Amino acid sequence: MTGAAVRVYCWVVMNAPFPPQRSRTLIRLQDHLQATTGRAIGDYGMIADGDTVMVCMSGGKDSHALLDLLLALQRRAPARFRLIAVNVDQKQPNFPEHVLPQYLEGLGVDYRIVEADTYSVVREKIPVGKTTCSLCSRLRRGVIYRVARELGANKIALGHHRDDVLETLFLNLFFGGRMKSMPPKLATDSGEFVVIRPLYYCTEKDIAAYARGMQFPIIPCDLCGSQENLKRRTIKDMLQGWERETPGRLDNIFRGVQNVTPSHLGDPGLYDFLGLTPGGQADPDGDTLFDPPNDKEGFLRLERSEGTRIHFVRRQWSAEATAVDAAELAAASGRAAGQD
Ligand code: SF4
Repeated sequence: MTGAAVRVYCWVVMNAPFPPQRSRTLIRLQDHLQATTGRAIGDYGMIADGDTVMVCMSGGKDSHALLDLLLALQRRAPARFRLIAVNVDQKQPNFPEHVLPQYLEGLGVDYRIVEADTYSVVREKIPVGKTTCSLCSRLRRGVIYRVARELGANKIALGHHRDDVLETLFLNLFFGGRMKSMPPKLATDSGEFVVIRPLYYCTEKDIAAYARGMQFPIIPCDLCGSQENLKRRTIKDMLQGWERETPGRLDNIFRGVQNVTPSHLGDPGLYDFLGLTPGGQADPDGDTLFDPPNDKEGFLRLERSEGTRIHFVRRQWSAEATAVDAAELAAASGRAAGQD
């Protein structure tokens, strides 16, 4: 059957989502996203042999991409694991109930549609004009955990991506006074499940382009009538503005999220500042009092100490000179410690 015939057959006979024609660009993007997702899964040990992974599907672009990429990886991965797609129908007005079941049937994946009217609870409890997201997502989380238990799933996959991670980091910093974001992997408080975010390394831009190319049947995310979270919108605009001004800045910040130096922040719970004393040993991760020159073009050397004045002179770099200076500095720090 030709590609066009398959499309017509899927659409007319099976009433299933047809495979869109894929351009080279889309295939490249698909390869990239599959590799990026696979790397995140491997780096953080998200999925293991024998796992049952419940894939949370809101019907938005991110969750569609998540399921599609996990299915592709499931076909190739050496590990055997089970995927179950789950959508919580929160009974929001105008929710198109038929869209996801029809799409998931067409894919031939194991799936469940969970009917849980969180909408009316939220409407009843939260006064008009107030933000509803916090109660709504708490209720949804409770439903998701109960369903995971019911299905015997040990992993719960969510569709958050790199940009969600960055936005959450700055939201917490700007409005919560905490340096905290979304982890790639998290044990639930009950200890029963591990929540995983396989799209952790994927950018929203790539996911949006992929969702468009794949023609996923997207369900709009504003059915609840909730105001868009203005704080998140502000942070998103700020980050996108930075990226426009300095391309690559978001990649850098994201690398920073994965490369933290607790001794250079200020959280006494993460680093023992009270117990910190000069140990006489160089710390490979710590500051050096005088950084060795990268270009070996010269550096400063302690020359003499006279009364209230201490003099440094500049001189050419050499291995011997560095050794002498290291010895002098060690001796000086010994003297200083003795004076204390
Ligand atoms: S946007 Fe709507 S559905 Fe989503 S968490 Fe907020 S209230 Fe719930």
